Amino acid sequence: MSITHSIVSVLNLKDPHLHFSEDCVSSQSIRGVDSLVFSGSLSYDPPSSCPLCGSSNPGSAIIKHGTKSSLITLPSVSRRPAYLRLKKQRFLCKHCGHTFTASTSIVLPHCFISNNTRLSIALDAKMKTSEKDIAFRHSVSHATVNSLLQQLYQDFKVQRNFLPPHLCFDEFRSVKGVDASMSFLFLNAESGQILNILPDRRMPALIRYFMSYSRKAREAVKTVCMDMYSPYFSVVHHCFPHAKIILDRFHIVQLLSRALNKTRVNFMNQSKPHYNKLKRYWKLLLKFEDDLNDQDFKKWVCFPSLMREID
Ligand SMILES: [Zn+2]
Repeated sequence: MSITHSIVSVLNLKDPHLHFSEDCVSSQSIRGVDSLVFSGSLSYDPPSSCPLCGSSNPGSAIIKHGTKSSLITLPSVSRRPAYLRLKKQRFLCKHCGHTFTASTSIVLPHCFISNNTRLSIALDAKMKTSEKDIAFRHSVSHATVNSLLQQLYQDFKVQRNFLPPHLCFDEFRSVKGVDASMSFLFLNAESGQILNILPDRRMPALIRYFMSYSRKAREAVKTVCMDMYSPYFSVVHHCFPHAKIILDRFHIVQLLSRALNKTRVNFMNQSKPHYNKLKRYWKLLLKFEDDLNDQDFKKWVCFPSLMREID
């Protein structure tokens, strides 16, 4: 196995035009940090046409014309920052007089951060970690991580012609930057996959959003599981003509226990002799009847005689 093949395999660089020599790995200080530097070259035969003037290459109008060196950030190797010092082939078009550099799949044109590093940053961003930490781990600046994530968000395209048959709606408090107090999220009830997060949970914004889906997609929605936030009802009726609304069990229980507590407090305030009893044993009133103890007699504060829980 040649040294080029070994290096390319270790660094996962998928470009057949890279070449590495025997002594290509060295330890160097880059921006004051001890780093691994891989020195390589990128060269191939002159392309068949000039990318600038478009003229084809009859009679070798495009020739090799020196090299240009650049330092490309790679994902770290054994927790050491790693760089590729790449000597790229330059070409000269005799037809238009312009020069251009050999292109490679390992880094974008005019960029010094390898595509592997960009991918690694994107994968790290899936975890609960700060942009600053990601930047530190990849030896890049905070601004680089931030702009890369912004670019990735731009690429996120929502499919407007499909919605799963069973949806769940909910809201949560997201970031300070959004206008509304609560953000909205909805997911596929069967897979649990989050389909999208919207910065505003108010009715006009939701209707505007869901109406951007095709009619066929909206008609395919059979059920929507949600809480009792009233604008959601209007949104479902307006946007999903065939959908049934399912109220979340948790919210029904929450509503019932709130109502029961409110009644208890009202009763407490009207009846002074029972005030302490109802205040102290509020949990017993919420307990399921079959779970109450009907065996053991014991002493209870506020009650004169021995009693069981059920009494
Ligand atoms: Zn040209």
